[in-house]
Amino acid sequence: MVQGFEVVAVLGAGTMGHGIAQVIAQAGSTVRLYDVEERFARAGLERIAGNLAKGVEKGKLSAADREATLSRLTPHAELATAARGATLVIEAAPEKLELKQSLLSQCAAVAASGAILATNTSSLSITRIASAIPQPERVVGLHFFNPVHLMELLEIVYGERTAPEIVVHSKRFAGAIGKTPIVVRDAPGFASSRLGIAIAMEAIRMVESGVASAQDIDTAMKLGYRHPMGPLELTDHVGLDVRLAIAEYLHQELGPVFDPPALLRQLVAEGRLGKKSGRGFYEWK
Ligand code: NAD
Repeated sequence: MVQGFEVVAVLGAGTMGHGIAQVIAQAGSTVRLYDVEERFARAGLERIAGNLAKGVEKGKLSAADREATLSRLTPHAELATAARGATLVIEAAPEKLELKQSLLSQCAAVAASGAILATNTSSLSITRIASAIPQPERVVGLHFFNPVHLMELLEIVYGERTAPEIVVHSKRFAGAIGKTPIVVRDAPGFASSRLGIAIAMEAIRMVESGVASAQDIDTAMKLGYRHPMGPLELTDHVGLDVRLAIAEYLHQELGPVFDPPALLRQLVAEGRLGKKSGRGFYEWK
């Protein structure tokens, strides 16, 4: 049981929401997984069951732990029921400002008093999201990484009005679910995307100007800096289109370091989106 976080509501049961719900339930909390239709919430639970089954196969958890985790998870299609009395709400709904504001505002009215209202946004301003919510001091960014059950980082992002104790509780929560927190002020790209995109854009510029091959640039970072994966291979995994969109946003907000190279635009226009399309900087069979 994660003390102080006995009942948690997760909003959105997609790629991120199901993973977030899983790690919190594994840590011992009761988790209500909400989506707009019950079948979506149930699909999220099925993905969790699949992840846990793999964990059992690999000997990472016992069958009893799997059953206990599943017993702490319930699907919901009614927001008020999902959030009622929760001490932590984490929204992982689509990346739209008004949607996130509306979801967290509705939860603010029914969650436990003093509950943490968290967003898993990867790019929106925490301060802007909080501006539409009663008690904006309760709003914080809890930025998880995909796949949530395997990635150790939790980026805690505080907005202009986030109360210091909400950050303290968020750090404690991160530790309790086995994540390593970093604390970041609300700024475009937070810490992770800002650095990751800066390196990726420079690596693409180097390919463009013939400094070295994609493979050699990736090897430079893997063997020279101990990155587990090079920036170009990582771009293939994330999707060239996804990285282009983030770079365009950061370019607009932070300046020329993030200016997407012509090569990136060209590859996206050609449909070379990385692993998902079979070809990016590398061939994927
Ligand atoms: P997704 O499309 O996989 O899942 C979104 C889910 O939200 C879907 O199940 C959808 O049915 C549901 N949804 C739609 N409208 C809703 C509503 N009104 N209320 C509740 N749920 C609703 O998206 P995702 O990749 O899981 O992204 C979710 C959030 O997490 C976004 O803000 C995204 O920026 C952020 N994020 C994504 C990643 C990633 O790698 N995918 C990483 C970090 C953060």
